[in-house]
Amino acid sequence: MSFEVESLCGSIDKMIQKHLPPEEVRRRDEQSDPPNHLLKSFAEMGLFDLVMPSQDDEWDRNRWHRLSIIQERLGYHATMAALLFNRVACFGMMTLNMSANQAQRDRFLPQLVAGNGAFALALSEAGAGSDAGAIQTRAERFDDGWKITGRKIWISGAADAIRLIVAARTDPNSKGGSGITLFMVDPNAPGVSMTQLEKIGNRCSLSYDIGFEEVVVKDDDRIGDLNDGFGCLKKTLFYARSGLAAAVVGTAQAAVDRAAAHARQREQFGKPIASFQVIAHRLANMQTEVDLARLLARELAAAIDSSKDCSRLAAQAKLVSTETLKRVTEHGMQIMASAAYAVESDMNRYWRDARLYTFGEGSSEILLDLIAADMGVGRGIAG
Ligand SMILES: Cc1cc2nc3c(=O)[nH]c(=O)nc-3n(C[C@H](O)[C@H](O)[C@H](O)COP(=O)(O)OP(=O)(O)OC[C@H]3O[C@@H](n4cnc5c(N)ncnc54)[C@H](O)[C@@H]3O)c2cc1C
Repeated sequence: MSFEVESLCGSIDKMIQKHLPPEEVRRRDEQSDPPNHLLKSFAEMGLFDLVMPSQDDEWDRNRWHRLSIIQERLGYHATMAALLFNRVACFGMMTLNMSANQAQRDRFLPQLVAGNGAFALALSEAGAGSDAGAIQTRAERFDDGWKITGRKIWISGAADAIRLIVAARTDPNSKGGSGITLFMVDPNAPGVSMTQLEKIGNRCSLSYDIGFEEVVVKDDDRIGDLNDGFGCLKKTLFYARSGLAAAVVGTAQAAVDRAAAHARQREQFGKPIASFQVIAHRLANMQTEVDLARLLARELAAAIDSSKDCSRLAAQAKLVSTETLKRVTEHGMQIMASAAYAVESDMNRYWRDARLYTFGEGSSEILLDLIAADMGVGRGIAG
């Protein structure tokens, strides 16, 4: 790790200690209270500036590698902090950077960099989860704008987003991923209604069912070319998968450290349970899995930095990191037993949160299909 990145991580540790200490993470999780106050701290530390291209080639050559380490560090302290950072950096800023026009960038990038809020992606629908191309929300042309009608489900951070990025069908005769366009919608616009959903984990990233009843947007609020919404989403996918993989590796490391610390201190049969080989080997396997997942996440970040095609690597990094977190938290629960089952234990939060990542933002099954297709085997997603 370079000196700059190491000192940045040191500053992140101090900032989190001050603004999101462990007891505050537990309180927020229990009360479903998102740590949105951190956005200002991220901005003051210049973390969002790191997402933007700089004048320095050397610095830019390691941009995602550096961000990956930062995301991992945030994930180590609290997944809720890393996911919030990623929603601004990977999804919001990179969607604008990759697909928006100059006027849209000028309008929204400064707000995101200043920590004034995040964007939310409104893609999934009741009948369109893994099969995102099955969406039915439509946008119909009128005068110089569009009217959006439909329903979205499980949209994270929608109520307090600066803008919702809504995927809507603009070609009524289209099927699958074609004929879909992205629009920036004000969550407070007339015709938008939201209901918050209750859930078992990730309680600090609030999820909403959203109704759109002839919601009017201007053509200026369309992102990218007409009917190329999926093309735009694809351009942001690597960044989102890189951010999630790094954050999840950080949380997995926290789970291993927590389990190891407990095993060293907890005595049964007159000895620390860490001295029993079955526990020690379990911990050794957990650490090895996390180290392997970290290598893949860093490899993906390096591939993004060198502008390589990383479709397969992005799928692999997301698959391995999320499945690793699921496994190590399951082992962590077993090692800590009743101590982890207690409501106030961090381990059960890691374990509950981990259940989302192996299906959210591309399920493990769909990712395996993508990797298989890249290898020239399998029937493909639609098969
Ligand atoms: C807490 C939370 C936050 C979310 N945040 C957002 C958000 O911000 N924005 C957004 O747009 N969406 C969001 N989602 C939706 C999320 O992306 C979907 O849940 C995800 O795409 C999976 O869809 P599904 O739940 O409908 O599962 P389904 O698609 O019904 O899948 C069910 C199972 O079938 C498997 N399966 C499906 N198709 C195949 C196939 N072809 N081959 C093999 N197996 C298959 C899947 O892998 C899975 O195991 C969120 C969901 C949750 C729970």
